[in-house]
Order: sequence, then structure tokens, then C-alpha cells
Amino acid sequence: MLSTQELKTYAASLGLVATGVCAATANSQLKEQLKKRRASFPLCSFEAEDICNRIDPSKLMPNAKSVFVCLFPYYINEVTPGNLSRYAMVCDYHQVAGEYLAKLTAFIKEKEPNARCLPLCDTSPMVDRWFAYQAGLGFFGKNQMLIHPEFGSWFFIGSLLLDIPLEADAPLAVTCKNCDACIRSCPGGALKDDFGFDCEKCISYLTQKKALTESQKAVVHSQNSVYGCDVCQKVCPHNANVPNTTIAEFYQELIIKLDKNTIENMSNREFKKQYKNYAFSWCSRQTILKNFKD
Ligand code: SF4
Ligand code: SF4
Repeated sequence: MLSTQELKTYAASLGLVATGVCAATANSQLKEQLKKRRASFPLCSFEAEDICNRIDPSKLMPNAKSVFVCLFPYYINEVTPGNLSRYAMVCDYHQVAGEYLAKLTAFIKEKEPNARCLPLCDTSPMVDRWFAYQAGLGFFGKNQMLIHPEFGSWFFIGSLLLDIPLEADAPLAVTCKNCDACIRSCPGGALKDDFGFDCEKCISYLTQKKALTESQKAVVHSQNSVYGCDVCQKVCPHNANVPNTTIAEFYQELIIKLDKNTIENMSNREFKKQYKNYAFSWCSRQTILKNFKD
């Protein structure tokens, strides 16, 4: 029978050094948190309305038993971002994580030929951060990010939902420093005390929305980024002295800055083709263009 340690050792041989396991069970604590947020703040348009679909892995795999969670750190100290969030500068994490998860799936299938493995990387209604939290890979910050003790919050999350049992890790008994720097620095005023979050005031969310109100446009144009926002991560003391990623794919073909004229002069099809390997290309050309100041 495949053990958690065997799987972690194989993952480490691929360069995935932050991995963990949690049980694939519906989580009542997460359910209460989502309900509380919905009572106070608008629903993000990317979010599934039915909370059950967000908290219960059995909706994706009826016999799900465990979740193997991997962090994909992407921070590179030497790189200074231009007008893109750091996560948007690197190769599309869906593709990168997908390739690693495929290798892990092949390894599991060698040991457990009948196992079902469903890769997840921001590709289902499930709250991937919650899996990572339960698997002992971080703690929640007031900036809404999951924070790993070594890699800070600069990482993607990829998981395998499995119908085989694995020994689970425990959540970390650590909290963020509660310095409130993220709340004070947030340009849109999206972060609230008590872990509250108003997506309609978050620049990261607004840069991905098609249409904005005049006041939302003003917030987006008050800063430099045309996709995403890193302010609440940059100011977080847990992100000081974060090491460079060891994932080779994240050093390849970095895009530091998007140029307004270049994008204006492209067709929609050319935009999709040119940027197909970057996460921001899921947005339309017009959605990105609206984020540039005149
Ligand atoms: S991403 Fe930017 S706008 Fe959104 S909460 Fe963080 S600092 Fe505020
Ligand atoms: S900036 Fe301070 S309050 Fe915000 S997540 Fe980091 S440690 Fe917590």
C-alpha cells in the first residue's frame, strides 16, 4: 500500500519540497467561514454559488478519501515586476502544476493501479487553499493568503484528489503576525479586520472583471498593475527573505510588462495566441486593455 512518505519522497525528487496530505471530507469550519463572508460581502463572480460544491470533495469524487497537496513556489528575488502581478509573469501555473500532477499520478498508479486520481489546480469550485491549510502547508493571513513558513504566500497550489487513504498531516499551530500592514496598505480598502474581504474593492479581482464602475476604474488606475495586485503580499513580514523558486519552469520566458500599444494593435485571436502560456490570457484583450491608464 502506498504511504504518504513514499509519495512525498517522490514529489521531493521532482523538486516539490512542500507537500502534505489531508482527508477528503466536507469541512464544517470552512462552511461557516464562507457563510459568514457571504452575509457581509458580495459574492465573487468566479465563485460557485452552492457552498456544498466548495467544501465537499465527494461532489467531485464520490469515494474520495484523501488529498495530496503540493505547493509550487514562484518567487524570484532578482525580478522586479513591471505592470503584472508576480504570479502572472511566469508560465501558466495550470500547465506547470498539471505536468507535475501527471507525474505524481503515474507514480501512484504504478503502486496502486486501481486508484482514482483527480488533479486540481484552481480548476474546480473547491477551496484549494483550505486543502493546503489542512495538509499543514500554511496558515491564513489577514491578506486572505495562505502563508507557508518558508515560502511565504508566493506559491500556487496543486492537489490530487484520491480514492485511496493516506496518512494525513495536521494543520500548523501558527497564526499570522497580525500586524495589519496588509489592511492599511490595500489600495482598494478590500481587506477588513477579522479576515473580512470585499472582492468588489480588490484590484486583483477588478483587473479580471470585464466591466467596472467609475469608482472601481479609478481604484485600478490609481496603481500600475494591469493584471493582479501584489500590495498585500509585498508588505507582509512573512514574505521577507523568501527564497527563489526551485521550479525551473518559472524561470522560463518571464513577461515583466505588458505594452498597451502592442495589445491595442493585436486582434483578439493574436492576443490569445501570443499569451496562451500565461494565466492572464484567460481574460479577453479588452478586459486587460481597460486596466491601462489613458
Ligand atoms: S490584492 Fe491588492 S487590492 Fe486586493 S486585497 Fe490585496 S492589496 Fe488589496
Ligand atoms: S501583513 Fe501582517 S496582518 Fe497582514 S497577513 Fe501579513 S502578518 Fe498578517
